[in-house]
Amino acid sequence: MLREFKADLHIHTCLSPCAELEMSPMAIVRTALKKEIDIIAITDHNSAENVIAARNAAQHTDLTVLAGMEITTSEEAHILALFDDMESIMKLQDIVYNNLMPGVNDEKRFGEQIVVNEKDEVLEFNRRLLITATELSVYSAVNTIHSLGGLAVASHIDKEVFSIISQLGFIPDNLKFNALEMSTHIDRTRAEELFALYNSYPWISSSDAHFLEDIGKRTTRFFMNEPTTADMASALHNINGRRVEWG
Ligand SMILES: [Zn+2]
Ligand SMILES: [Zn+2]
Repeated sequence: MLREFKADLHIHTCLSPCAELEMSPMAIVRTALKKEIDIIAITDHNSAENVIAARNAAQHTDLTVLAGMEITTSEEAHILALFDDMESIMKLQDIVYNNLMPGVNDEKRFGEQIVVNEKDEVLEFNRRLLITATELSVYSAVNTIHSLGGLAVASHIDKEVFSIISQLGFIPDNLKFNALEMSTHIDRTRAEELFALYNSYPWISSSDAHFLEDIGKRTTRFFMNEPTTADMASALHNINGRRVEWG
């Protein structure tokens, strides 16, 4: 039986130096439930250390928390990685950590990177340089995500910075994104005008929330059977009656 799942697949926690401290995994889960969202993805910059806390916080609730990350490639393009399981995201994290720029986070300049548990208790301050580009090219990032069984989504392609189009000028045909993401700054009509060239890709839209109030500001509705990345992939490609809507 197909049903509608409301998904916000791009949310930063207090581990992202640019996100607010209020973005604790527990508060994010509580806010998503209040806004009747069915699926969220935790997508911090170049790290997934707060994913487990959000999944634990969502246990025994109807909310599905996908294991995600927003990778900054060597070209400074942002790419979302989405997985069902912790094992894959931890493998991705190892690869990304091995490709981070050397150096430590300048907390005064970029902000703190806080790892917490599901009760909002601080576990540690991550000192890695998470905010800058990694040494992974867009090709290796997408291929790595796919080899680990995840979905690769080009983040906020309408943004003038840190998007695949702003950084490369276009989306190369051989870059096999599962979807392109539109930010909250653009509506569907405008997106169709500007990005007609890329309408062979599935499109989604999400909040890219850095503040609690922004969670669910934009969602994508998935019509599918179960809240898994496999069923989401079917919905993105209109397989077996599955489909997506946004805007
Ligand atoms: Zn981004
Ligand atoms: Zn983001």
